[in-house]
Amino acid sequence: MQKDAIIIGGGFAGLSAAYILGRARRHVTIIDSGTPRNRFAAHSHGVLALDGKSGLEILADARRQLAAYPTVTFIEGQADSAGGTIDNFHVHLAGRDPITAKRLLLANGMEDRLPDIRGLSERWGKTVLHCPYCHGYEIGGGPIGVIAMHSMSAHQAAVVADWGDVTLFTNAMPEPDETARSLLERRNVSLQPGAVSAIETGTDEMLWVRLANGRVFEVKALFVGPDMHIRGPFAENLGCRLEETPAGKIITTDAVKATSAAGVYAAGDIARAFGNITLSSADGVMAGLGVHQSLMFAEAHP
Ligand SMILES: Cc1cc2nc3c(=O)[nH]c(=O)nc-3n(C[C@H](O)[C@H](O)[C@H](O)COP(=O)(O)OP(=O)(O)OC[C@H]3O[C@@H](n4cnc5c(N)ncnc54)[C@H](O)[C@@H]3O)c2cc1C
Repeated sequence: MQKDAIIIGGGFAGLSAAYILGRARRHVTIIDSGTPRNRFAAHSHGVLALDGKSGLEILADARRQLAAYPTVTFIEGQADSAGGTIDNFHVHLAGRDPITAKRLLLANGMEDRLPDIRGLSERWGKTVLHCPYCHGYEIGGGPIGVIAMHSMSAHQAAVVADWGDVTLFTNAMPEPDETARSLLERRNVSLQPGAVSAIETGTDEMLWVRLANGRVFEVKALFVGPDMHIRGPFAENLGCRLEETPAGKIITTDAVKATSAAGVYAAGDIARAFGNITLSSADGVMAGLGVHQSLMFAEAHP
């Protein structure tokens, strides 16, 4: 049976859209591979009334509640490809017949690519973080490092300075220009040039940031702004317009999260320059409304 919509990605955006569409009694299938972006963090913060709950737990609760809606179906698995045009999209998964639908929502999130520094990736989401609004409060002040990755890293260090005494490690990046330097000075951020060679466990739960020149700095936590990459081939294959942000490309969408490809919607981190759980959930709600109204108007004016 052709569905009203297929949602690729059952994270915060995808499940929020499914919730809206299920409540509108629309037939929607969510395909999800179970790896939301924040799976590395044991706790989530900055989400009203859910302070400290893990992202995976929030998503599990949402799926339990969605199971009560009879027109919503959930497939655990990885969508491999998607094609077609408005009113006739098809999504392919290994070992199954293709699923077809009138509308398609891409909510399959972003992949973070971290700098290749020994000891960094295994601490991602624990003591190596990207968002001070999510995890800065729990650090409790003290020395914090920021490892520069792109042109916005000086800005990130200036922001993080409200959560501790910040050192910006320039690592492989050029030294900040005059404007960035004066911002860092005003925010009391120290600048440490030179390549970072390793992150190591120090004493009393501190981290050691080891530079290639042999110097070692002790910090309580580190922030990086990873390169973000849209997951999967869908956006490009469907011809969705993309736009550049300092951290990577995102899908361009309008006010109801419609992409430039007719009938294809995009929500969550994949379609915004700065994302978190609340913003992705809100985008999912908006995409759900957009998809519903597009179906409804097409049916009213066949
Ligand atoms: C370490 C870390 C900690 C964070 N902590 C917080 C926090 O405390 N508070 C906060 O508000 N935000 C936090 N964030 C940000 C938050 O995780 C994201 O903004 C949010 O997950 C984005 O939601 P989304 O629905 O767009 O994508 P995601 O949550 O990443 O969901 C995308 C879903 O799509 C699925 N998927 C991908 N490809 C396919 C495919 N081909 N087929 C099927 N399914 C697919 C994935 O398995 C995943 O379940 C954190 C991020 C990181 C990296």
